Amino acid sequence: MSKATIEKISNLCKRRGFIFQSSELYNGINGFWDYGPNGVAMRRALEQAWWNYMVEARDNVEGQDSTIICHPQVWKASGHVDQFADIMVDNKISKKRFRIDNLLEQQSPEVLQALADSFETEADVAKLEASFETQVEQKTELVKVILNDCKVIDPSTKKPGDWTEPKQFNLMMQTYVGPVFDEDHKAYLRAETCQPIFINFHTIATSMRQKVPFGIAQTGKAFRNEINPRNFTFRSREFSQMEMEFFCHEEEAMDWYNYWRDERLKFYKDVLNFRPEATRTHDHEKLAHYAKAAMDIEFEFPFGWGELEGIHHRGTWDLSQHAEHSKQKLEYFDQARNERYIPTVIETSVGLDRLMLAILCHAYDEDEAETQKEGKETDVRVVLRLPAVVAPVQVAVLPLSKKLSESSEKIHKDLQKNFRSAHDVTQAIGRRYRRQDEIGTPLCVTYDFDSEEDNCVTVRDRDTMTQERISLDELQGYIFNKLNA
Ligand code: ATP
Repeated sequence: MSKATIEKISNLCKRRGFIFQSSELYNGINGFWDYGPNGVAMRRALEQAWWNYMVEARDNVEGQDSTIICHPQVWKASGHVDQFADIMVDNKISKKRFRIDNLLEQQSPEVLQALADSFETEADVAKLEASFETQVEQKTELVKVILNDCKVIDPSTKKPGDWTEPKQFNLMMQTYVGPVFDEDHKAYLRAETCQPIFINFHTIATSMRQKVPFGIAQTGKAFRNEINPRNFTFRSREFSQMEMEFFCHEEEAMDWYNYWRDERLKFYKDVLNFRPEATRTHDHEKLAHYAKAAMDIEFEFPFGWGELEGIHHRGTWDLSQHAEHSKQKLEYFDQARNERYIPTVIETSVGLDRLMLAILCHAYDEDEAETQKEGKETDVRVVLRLPAVVAPVQVAVLPLSKKLSESSEKIHKDLQKNFRSAHDVTQAIGRRYRRQDEIGTPLCVTYDFDSEEDNCVTVRDRDTMTQERISLDELQGYIFNKLNA
């Protein structure tokens, strides 16, 4: 069982320059997070690991990088302008606003049963939520009465609220393009990275001479005006996604769906070394009307299981929508089959920030026994057991005394050519080890007074805390093997 709590992780992240509240100087802005030196190093490495696995190691996946602002019609065609909305209600007493699904999750079985009786449905949160959506579209005044009659509790006051009419709240962030701020110049910050992939499908297929089946991947920022950002970076208003859309013939689509599910699970196991029990898969019971299959890969966060990645069989929905709205034929001519068709899409979609949070929670450990081994008084060693591929610092070079720092710096400069290396000179060696443990540095190289004579250094392993004496001639190769083991 992981020893991580969100509080411990967010404290460590701030203390050690990983992640902290955006605009802290002005008391912060809810749902926005900044990445410090260690955070940005880790985040870039993680994005690169995904890109390498999904794009660079394959011949049938191409990359792209689109703008954040697209033609507003893109979001009309995708359904986001009309449907990308959450239902929210306000409590007039506490002045707090809630998303209806979150509110329902926090009600007692009695309140849920009363709501179910009023909506003529089951007291199951998912079923109630679905029924709620239909009711809100039809008659919001009635829903307001039901919420108040059933004494729906405000989780912040633990008392029944005085509820307003529920309202649809679109999650897309808006801006204006050009000097005139009117409806005609309204534009949206993209709510997901995949729509620009669909609209570039033909250009990329042609320019790269790719034939279906093949995929297009993109990473980058997405914006959602989430009603209730929470759990550190898990639900933010500005975040990054890493998505891949795979275009194929309808007959082969289920095979590709299974293939990509297995590939993505392999990524978590082989690239990020996730323990098998840290993730699970969850097939969606409720499918979008166009979808043939959908599932989530979930991670056990300290606050419970949460979606990490979605894998979706989207049928021909996206390309058909864009064909209809743009009035362009988005059919593909398949020479091998001698057939013209709109390709079916299989999507894999994971949040970069959410994945980074999962990795931090997975890596977080506190061990007492190990510190005793090092002959220290019993205290708790906080250690991030990060996989080397994403560790912000892969190797730290520590001179035993400041007097040795000229020589140790040379070693660091040499290592920096091949690894993310740091040179840590100040404070006692024990404290420097602890500092490196807390940021997840897999290896520390210590240069001592003997090193001047024997041309050897001591390499300490973060996880086993064992130390080995290694000749400087062999250091690069030794570190390479250790980090890639
Ligand atoms: P959720 O149900 O958690 O709101 P979603 O089903 O809307 O997520 P998708 O639209 O499928 O999510 O987005 C794909 C991935 O993007 C998610 O699996 C998640 O990792 C990430 N993601 C989505 N919304 C957010 C957010 N507000 N903050 C951080 N990451 C997010």
